Amino acid sequence: MKLAVLSGKGGTGKTFTAVNLATVAEKAVYIDCDVEEPNGRLFFKPVDKTESVVATPLPTFDAKKCTGCRKCVDFCRFNALVFIKDKPKVFAEVCHSCGGCSLVCPAEAVMETEKPVGVVECGRSGNVRVVTGCMNLGEASGIPIIEAALSHAATDEGLVVIDCPPGSACSVMESVKYADYCILVAEPTAFGLHNFKMVHELVTLMEKPCGVIINKTDGEYGAMEEFCAHHEIPVLCRVPYSEKLARLGSSGQIASLSDEETAKLFRGLLTSVSKEVCA
Ligand code: SF4
Ligand code: SF4
Repeated sequence: MKLAVLSGKGGTGKTFTAVNLATVAEKAVYIDCDVEEPNGRLFFKPVDKTESVVATPLPTFDAKKCTGCRKCVDFCRFNALVFIKDKPKVFAEVCHSCGGCSLVCPAEAVMETEKPVGVVECGRSGNVRVVTGCMNLGEASGIPIIEAALSHAATDEGLVVIDCPPGSACSVMESVKYADYCILVAEPTAFGLHNFKMVHELVTLMEKPCGVIINKTDGEYGAMEEFCAHHEIPVLCRVPYSEKLARLGSSGQIASLSDEETAKLFRGLLTSVSKEVCA
């Protein structure tokens, strides 16, 4: 079973949920696709780590073959090419490695080199294999790193938990693509509801079944529950606002390892989600 854990905005409790879900499973693979700020590993503190570089193609130009027709520059939708002294020049930082310039070149003057864009780190923490995608600073897109990280999602290792990037951009779509079920983590505030609506719309468009976890709830803001009831979104569990959980989180501890109440809550969540997926 592959579960994607999403939230409309950062700081909602997405990584808290993903890390605890993987921890209470008998066996799990945790994949951090929040490649700009991967922090699940701060909780897991994985050992026996290995690292592989993720690289994408970057165009280079053969000055002898290039006729200066500009077709490649006109084609590039990312404005990654400019024309200087009758020859194309690429800005590596904004090139999305789409390969289009090579396809449109009539003179076969475009070649490709490999550009490192990030790494995928693999390690182990107890019953969890921890896979972390990390994007290099200043890169335009995290998609290649997310793809590389998700290639480690072997379901024969039990539960796969995908910690998605926050928001509802294309990197989130890529992270969710192969998930069987989406867990939407939301906080019961006006800002939380606003962003939750966007991420709910995204998974609905992608036709992914989903349920919600209301995190840090204190019962004071009812609009989140009303929205879920109105749209028939199952509320899988409610995590109460707790100073104890906040303290454990801020010190980089996995709550369900030291707090039986939290472990029970996440075991219950895993059971509810398994029933939803099998239904
Ligand atoms: S590979 Fe795509 S994004 Fe990069 S320069 Fe060529 S057309 Fe532009
Ligand atoms: S399309 Fe090919 S020939 Fe034309 S400017 Fe670009 S590299 Fe040169």
